[in-house]
This record gives sequence, structure tokens and C-alpha cells, in this order.
Amino acid sequence: MTDRRNSAEPTVRRMPWPDSASRPLVSPLQPSVVYVAAGPDALDAQYEGRAPGYAYAREGHPNADTLAAMIDALEGTSGGIVTGSGMAAVGVAMLALLRAGDHVVGGDQLYGRSMRMLADDLPRLGIATALADPTDAAAVAAALRPATRMILIEVVSNPTLRVADLAGIAALARDRGILLAVDNTFTTPRGLRPLDHGADLVIHSVTKLLAGHSDATLGYIAGRDPAVAARLRTAAATWGLTPAPFDCWLAERGLLSFPLRHERASANAARLADHLARLPGVVRVVYPGRADHPDHARARGLLGSGGSMLAFEVAGGRAAASRLVRAAPALAFAPTLGDIATTLSHPVSSSHREVPKAARAAAGITEGFFRVSVGVEEIGALRDAFTAAVAAAAGQGDS
Ligand SMILES: *Cc1c(COP(=O)(O)O)cnc(C)c1O
Repeated sequence: MTDRRNSAEPTVRRMPWPDSASRPLVSPLQPSVVYVAAGPDALDAQYEGRAPGYAYAREGHPNADTLAAMIDALEGTSGGIVTGSGMAAVGVAMLALLRAGDHVVGGDQLYGRSMRMLADDLPRLGIATALADPTDAAAVAAALRPATRMILIEVVSNPTLRVADLAGIAALARDRGILLAVDNTFTTPRGLRPLDHGADLVIHSVTKLLAGHSDATLGYIAGRDPAVAARLRTAAATWGLTPAPFDCWLAERGLLSFPLRHERASANAARLADHLARLPGVVRVVYPGRADHPDHARARGLLGSGGSMLAFEVAGGRAAASRLVRAAPALAFAPTLGDIATTLSHPVSSSHREVPKAARAAAGITEGFFRVSVGVEEIGALRDAFTAAVAAAAGQGDS
């Protein structure tokens, strides 16, 4: 057998990217895992911060940095990083800033996975944890220990939409030299900028309202202190919590319309909350923008609007809840939030299924309880969809 390959064989090789005196308006998607450097001196200059550039995508890439800079601007900070998910952002805070022997206090209604991290994972690493009600700064103070190094709260709780005493907790953290981390996913920087209120760290699940289209899983974290920010960046690269370029590129596109989406969704939520409260069969409406909300005064002082999340309860238990979902095909029954369209979630069968029934009942999370992430639809269509769904829950119009 002779080797039939010769130099005339067609070959494929990489070609240089075309030069252009103009630049694209839209950020290019840059999926390259690795970057080609001019030589060892050029790499030294990059790693020593004397020249800009990238080396390896896990350590940083332009799509992540562009998106991070956009969120930094919204949060009024700089040097934030994008992570592979919201939970990666929560995780990197812990991995970068805590050590065995430290103690963490978390809000008692944190996002479910954050709760699980505090309950199971941190203790396994020698980090003790406790939960406290963040609507009551005295309760948080009572949970502190000499070893407490971090407090993690969400300003608006899920799904009961209680509003934390951010000023009280920030004062405590400052007095005791404890890092205050605020997961700002629910409130968003249009509602509140935690770093302006004394937080040391701000965290997002970018997956939700910021990206806004349920097609990218990402997180974000920024630290007020540049030394803290540098530790976050290093830990994210070391533990591999950094994001994929395509997700960042999608989220950048989504984020451009975030202020408009948020304004429209919040206006819709306020009107829908009032509409629901007038419907027969609705036992309760929970919306921080309504005067009957337990934290209404605090919400008005802290958040610009009532936000785009609301909750309500129908009578009739699981059967009524199931009828409601069946009668509302236009309202996606999906356990997420922050999509451009309205989504309905039923905490008892999803986010809060592991929470003991008595604890759920104490928080008002019953079989008839729904959380609504309000989208940007026409308000008339939304009202009609909920009117029909609530009527079906009550056993009218749907057999
Ligand atoms: C969804 C969510 C997270 C986790 O974000 P992922 O992107 O799903 O990892 C954390 N905190 C809050 C408040 C969330 O809603």
C-alpha cells in the first residue's frame, strides 16, 4: 500500500480574523477557550496587569467582562464578576471569604438552594450556620456569635414577599465588622442598590430578571472592597464557577431591555394585585406595593415600586390549585421568575416541597398559594387570564 497523501491534499487550517477599520455595534460572541499570545514577555505583561488581554476562558473572557461591566453600572460599582449560575455566585462568596471555624447567619426565607448550602454544605466544611428573620434586626443580632463572619439576606423574601430591615442589619454588620451579602435577585438594582445601603457584597441570579428570557443560566457578584473583589475573581477561576461566553452574550442582549421590562412588569404587577384582590375566591393577595402588605411602609421607603412579583391564595386546596393551572394555558406554570412573560409557581409542589408542612403553614404557604412573576403582557389580557383561572379554581366555567 502506498501512502496517497501528498502536499496537494486539501487542508483545513485557521485563518486570521479579517481586519476592519470599523467595529461591530453588537458585542461579538467570543467562544475561544484559549488566546494566542505574542510570547512569554507578552504573557508576563498580561498576568502582571501591565497589558490588557485574556489567556484562558475559565480565567476570563470578553463576553463575561462586558456583561459584568453592564451589571456593575446598574449596581453602581466596578470589578464585579459574572458566574456560571446564581448559585455559583452564592458559592463563590462562601469559598472565597470563609474558612473553617467561621459562622454565617442567613435569612430564614432564603432561596431554597442557598438554604441547603447553609444547612448541609457549609457545616461539612467546618463553617457553622444559623438562620434568623431578616424583617427583625433584633432577631438577626440575637443569632450573631463572636465567630460570625458573614450575614446573607434577600431584601424581599420568596414567596411571601416580606421586606428585610436592611438599614438595621447593615448597622449591625458595620458595628461588628461582619460582611453583609445581599442576594438582590428579587429586588434588582432598579428597586434597590445594596452597596448604597451598607452591603459589602451584592449577588444576583442573572438567570432571572436581568437576562429576562429564560435562556441563560448565570450569576453575578461584586464586592465593595477591591481586595474582596480580587479574592472573588480568583476563587471563581480556581473552583471553575465562571460562565460560558454564549450565555453571557445572550444575557447581554436581554439586559439591554431590562429597565423597560422592569418598569412595565412592575406597573402590571401593581394593577394585577388590585385586580386579584377584587376577585371572588381569592382569599389573600400579597404585594409589597399594596397598603395591606405587612411591610408596605418599609417597601415604600426602600424600593422604588412594589416590584414585579406578587402572590395570592385561592380557597379550595390542591384541587382548586390544579383547576386554576389547567384554566390558564397562557400563564406558564413554571418554577422560575423574571421571564419576559408571566409565570405561575406553586411553592408547595416546587420550591417549598422540602419545607415541613407546619413551617409552610406558619408562613402562609398553603395548597392554594401561588407566586406570580408578572411579565410585560398587555394588562387587559393578563386580567382576563387571571379572572378565568380564578373562576375555574372556584369550580366555575371549567368542568
Ligand atoms: C434563582 C435564584 C438563585 C439561584 O440562581 P441560579 O441562576 O438558578 O443558580 C439564587 N437566589 C435567588 C433569590 C434566586 O431566585
